[in-house]
Amino acid sequence: MTDVEKRATAAPAPLEWEYAPAPEARDIVHLEQRYGLFVGGERVEPRTGEYFETISPATEEPLAEVALAGPEDVDLSVQAARDAFENGWSELRPAERAKYLFRIARILQERSREFAVAESLDSGKPIKESRDVDLPLAAAHFFYYAGWADKLEYAFPNRRPRPIGVAGQIIPWNFPLLMLAWKIAPALAAGNTVVLKPAHTTPLTALLFTDVCRQAELPPGVVNVITGDGATGACLVRHSGVDKIAFTGSTEVGKDIQRAVAGTGRRLTLELGGKAANIVFDDCALDQAIEGIVNGIWFNQGEVCCAGSRLLVQESIYEPLIGKLKRRLQTLRVGDPLDKNTDVGAINSREQLEKITELVASGEEEGAEMYQAPCRLPERGFWFAPTVFTNVAQSYRIAQEEIFGPVLSVLTFRTPEEALEKANNTAYGLSAGVWTEKGSRILWMAQRLRAGVVWANTFNRFDPSSPFGGYKESGFGREGGRHGLEPYLRFE
Ligand code: NDP
Repeated sequence: MTDVEKRATAAPAPLEWEYAPAPEARDIVHLEQRYGLFVGGERVEPRTGEYFETISPATEEPLAEVALAGPEDVDLSVQAARDAFENGWSELRPAERAKYLFRIARILQERSREFAVAESLDSGKPIKESRDVDLPLAAAHFFYYAGWADKLEYAFPNRRPRPIGVAGQIIPWNFPLLMLAWKIAPALAAGNTVVLKPAHTTPLTALLFTDVCRQAELPPGVVNVITGDGATGACLVRHSGVDKIAFTGSTEVGKDIQRAVAGTGRRLTLELGGKAANIVFDDCALDQAIEGIVNGIWFNQGEVCCAGSRLLVQESIYEPLIGKLKRRLQTLRVGDPLDKNTDVGAINSREQLEKITELVASGEEEGAEMYQAPCRLPERGFWFAPTVFTNVAQSYRIAQEEIFGPVLSVLTFRTPEEALEKANNTAYGLSAGVWTEKGSRILWMAQRLRAGVVWANTFNRFDPSSPFGGYKESGFGREGGRHGLEPYLRFE
């Protein structure tokens, strides 16, 4: 080992940076005490008469009460979407549809600070991520698909694209508004109407979005938002008035939905879990790769389906890389999601924290070596320190299962062939990363990696024009880009 490598490997004591608090003002968001459902352009009381609380995962304080939709509510919302589809929206001139999407995009931009604060409050993600990633990307999706609305014939030449009808869309809690945008923007651009169900832990930005729909004067019933729990989602999936289901969430629920939809003739796209390999070769720009590894697994607390949760390191650079990574880990600031200096926020829910804790315990029991960033975790709320496991065997649960938390499992390899074999040795196939100076090696790897997205010398980069989706147990269908329109169209 050279002197430089030795210095990098010896992880020094945590850096004593004292950052003054930089809290984002929270009063820009006006939360109501209680939210109804958004059906046919109106806020309505749920027929169940039931409500549940949404809380801040950082403090456990209640934020608002939210309606719990039951079967009758699902039925009413599907009916509202059907009426809107048949009575105008599907026949509207495409350029007119585009105008609504452009309006929504612009309103999201105008109200982005408010939405970013609401998102961080409800989900626990750092404000700098909701402000700089979720909101700009959500607006960009609406802008992007607004552009396609009157160009569908060019997107699919020599075919006559027609909308499908009512889309039932179920989204998770890790990117609530962004997943809403991924789902609603292409559906509307293609001339469909939607019933959207957000996750029960993060309903607030979807509810605020209903204000945006009204502000944009979107015709009633084109977008309906029903809050509720898993049973609400299951009911939507099984409703015979829904023509297409789009789901993002766990592989387990995805399989259940696929079983429910099988044989009904209804269309389905599934975006499920992942266990991405982030592969670092010895000729990479090491400091750049370290930042990519950090972004790959600690962005959004690792609660990312395409997170680079399995780090594959070429053996010859293992020690310097781990040394640098540990040192970098010590500089991550964990804490208040609304503080602009926070890098890692709160875990989304108690259940998710328990799942992470259980899987991390299994890693220790199976013999992996754990390193955690020395940080003080707040007493209230749901928190987990950024964690790295070395000495990980491929058979360990932490190398196989999706942890969906700030936990990295490190494995090593010697040759590109071995890296490829290990990377593909998973039930999932959503994303992968390759770090190397050689373009030819990037192409060689990218052609052989069984992953829907392969990032080269970067990680977790998204763009509305770029399709995203999985292989194997990561699901099927693509969101984003021209490909993302196809699931919302039939061809005459
Ligand atoms: P789920 O798959 O349960 O939740 C995703 C969405 O589906 C939520 O809106 C949920 O509603 C809804 N839902 C739950 N059950 C059903 C059902 N039977 N039919 C239809 N819709 C349903 O994920 P969890 O929140 O339980 O997270 C569990 C694990 O899933 C995580 O630990 C992570 O590994 C993975 N996950 C993967 C995501 C991804 O982006 N690929 C996103 C989220 C989780 P509700 O929230 O109200 O229960």
